[in-house]
This record gives sequence, C-alpha cells and structure tokens, in this order.
Amino acid sequence: MNLEIKNIEKKYDNTSILNDISFTLQPGIYGLLGANGAGKSTLLRIICGVTRANKGTVNYNNTDIFERFENYRSILGFLPQEFKYYPELTGLKFMMYIAALKGVDKKSARERCEELLKIVGLNDVKNKKIRKYSGGMKQRLGIAQAMINDPKILILDEPTVGLDPKERIKFRNLIGSLSNEKIVILSTHIVSDVAYIADEILIIKKGCLINRGIATELVKEI
Ligand code: ADP
Ligand code: ADP
Repeated sequence: MNLEIKNIEKKYDNTSILNDISFTLQPGIYGLLGANGAGKSTLLRIICGVTRANKGTVNYNNTDIFERFENYRSILGFLPQEFKYYPELTGLKFMMYIAALKGVDKKSARERCEELLKIVGLNDVKNKKIRKYSGGMKQRLGIAQAMINDPKILILDEPTVGLDPKERIKFRNLIGSLSNEKIVILSTHIVSDVAYIADEILIIKKGCLINRGIATELVKEI
C-alpha cells in the first residue's frame, strides 16, 4: 500500500499556499508539523480529495484518487479541523448516523460504534447529548467517527486541540495501538504531540516541505 503526493501546488487567489509538494508514504504514523498558516489543512484536504490542487496528483496504490474516488473515500477516514457535530444527538446516535452515511453494514454498525466509543473513552457518556460534551470529548468523538469504516488511510487535522494532558496520553495510546497496516497522518503545530507517536515527521513551512525524517532524529535538531 502506498500514497503518493506528487508535485502538489495550490493557490488561493494569486497567493501560493503550497509549493511543489512531493512525498510518498507507506503504512505508518506520520506527523505533519508546521506553524499555523503553513498549509497543513490545505494539504490534508487535498489528500482527502475535498479540495482540488491547481497542479499535481495524489495517487493511492499508483492510481489517481479521482479515477476511482468512491473506492478511495471508502478506505479513507478524515477528521477535518472544523468538524461539524450535531449537538442535539447523543454520542452514540451521532456515530450511528456517520456509520449509515459511510455505508457501514447495519447489523455490525451498532457493535462497531459502541466498540469505538469505548476505545476513545466515551462509553460512560455515549447516551448524553453532544452539547454537554467538553471540547476534549468532542475531539475524541471526532477521532472515533473517522475510524468507523476501519480506514486504511486515517487523516486527523490537529486532533489534539482541546485535549487535556490526560486525554493527550489516551490519544497517544489510541494512535499507537492502531494496526500497522494503516497510513495515519496527523497534523499539529505542537512538536511534543508527534515526537513520540509518529514514526516519521514531515515539516512544512510556508507551503514548502522542508524536512522529513525519523521523529527522534529530527527532534534532536530543534
Ligand atoms: P495550517 O493548517 O497549517 O494552519 P492552512 O492550510 O489552514 O494552514 O492555511 C494556509 C494558508 O492558506 C493560510 O494563509 C490561510 O489563510 C490560507 N487559506 C486556507 N484556506 C483558504 C481558503 N479557502 N481561501 C483563501 N485562503 C485560504
Ligand atoms: P457535504 O455533503 O455537507 O458537502 P461531506 O459529506 O462531503 O459534506 O463532508 C462533510 C465533512 O466531512 C466535510 O468537512 C469534509 O471535509 C469531510 N469529509 C469529506 N470526505 C470525507 C471522508 N471521506 N471521510 C471523512 N470525512 C470526510
């Protein structure tokens, strides 16, 4: 399995946001690290096919993602930065709703949703309305919904925003426990969030990929 990002360029109006970004990922956990405004969200949205690049391609197993997009979507899990929750639904109902949207088999959906809610530590509040959830709880619900279809590619945009230190540890364990047959990309502007989770770090600065390497090696340089 591989995901190849090739010569991606993106402009908004006449401003260049991403400059000729290329890299290939094999299964593993990757941290996309960069300051606010560096272009992380834009790049992740392009990888998910939600935003179109002006130039370049994203290939999954050597095929352009838009060639068989429905197929690609079905193996993709995405937590966008501005994820919409439905405050009047309970956590469990929300998960069931996302499962239905993603075409998860009805019989297994309930079990899968309950299992994921347990994994992210929301079992006790699954029957409470989302409007009563804390920021960290919502974030963990966002991570759970991204994993509903057991995605091969899991993309989490700033997943640790709003998590308290205890929740951050839970999050690390959760990501660490994911099967190694997935490509996981998580973006953050906080070095320590990815230093110990990610197998590799990609550093993006002003729309350019400036470094890529093993987390512990790169962090030494900072
Ligand atoms: P990051 O996720 O690293 O904070 P973003 O990808 O959100 O960075 O943003 C990179 C740059 O692109 C920023 O300057 C931002 O203002 C700009 N940008 C992002 N989305 C849009 C958009 N839809 N229209 C215009 N500019 C955008
Ligand atoms: P709408 O039908 O309202 O346009 P979508 O279902 O396309 O909404 O997307 C809803 C949200 O989920 C958006 O914020 C989008 O970025 C995100 N998204 C898009 N594609 C996927 C996907 N394959 N998996 C998870 N989230 C996705």
